[in-house]
Amino acid sequence: MKQDYLVRALAFNDEVRAFSVRTTNTVEEARRRHDTWRVGTAALGRTMTIGAMMGAMLKNEEKLTITINGGGPLGQVVVDANAKGEVRGYVQNPHVEVESIRPGKMNVGAAVGANGYLSVVKDIGMRDYFTGSTELHNGEIAEDFTYYFANSEQVPSAVGLGVLCTPEETTEAAGGFVVQLMPGASEETISKLEERIANLTPVSTLIDKGLSPEQILEEVLGEDNIRFIDKMDVSFKCNCGREKFLNAIKGLGEAEIDSMIKEDHGAEVECHFCREKYVFTEADLIALKAEKA
Ligand SMILES: [Zn+2]
Repeated sequence: MKQDYLVRALAFNDEVRAFSVRTTNTVEEARRRHDTWRVGTAALGRTMTIGAMMGAMLKNEEKLTITINGGGPLGQVVVDANAKGEVRGYVQNPHVEVESIRPGKMNVGAAVGANGYLSVVKDIGMRDYFTGSTELHNGEIAEDFTYYFANSEQVPSAVGLGVLCTPEETTEAAGGFVVQLMPGASEETISKLEERIANLTPVSTLIDKGLSPEQILEEVLGEDNIRFIDKMDVSFKCNCGREKFLNAIKGLGEAEIDSMIKEDHGAEVECHFCREKYVFTEADLIALKAEKA
């Protein structure tokens, strides 16, 4: 399988910045780990796709968490991403089915719900956080993020996100783009961009054709207008580990650890983000208590 990657570009005399990403393998890895059904794969996949691109807007060790809470049957959609192309995420209820709008057109908005909010927490280091939040527009995710960028970050943007599933419900193709006006963009650039966006082929069609991230941006912006800046691999990656969960148990307090030892004779925890299971034996917990004392 082809490695997922993201491209960054500038366009229209550098008055526009743009990102595009292919996330097919990343979304398929999430689907496999969480066993999401079609509409869950689409909602999680779209959110991971925008997450990967928003991660690319960060620097060095910065990272972000997206939470979408629309009140629909999927429950919360949560995605973590960082500046290194690492993305992870989950939906609260992966086994959800909603009627399609028409054959092949999933009703992601109905599954996510539009009665709620999306929030973005950016961890920009030194215990410094930026939190932005906005009401959901339709729960289809791409438009919700267009509103988020406009309302919460004051950046006029166009967002396209697409996830296609095979008849066997695996991920056939996934990807998307974000185009943003830089401060001080000229009226001429704004109207050129608006015209292109208004006449744009739906991103799911572009992805279905197998276009690369570069080709998607050429379709969106016009190939003569773009200057590609760089490229980065993107993949599903969870940073959980035995040590982290052991520390979490340690933080629960002695009474809780005692009851795990006496009643459960150990502990089994599962990572929300990747479904990896960690088993701690009675002996592990006794050792933890001794270490703590
Ligand atoms: Zn994990």
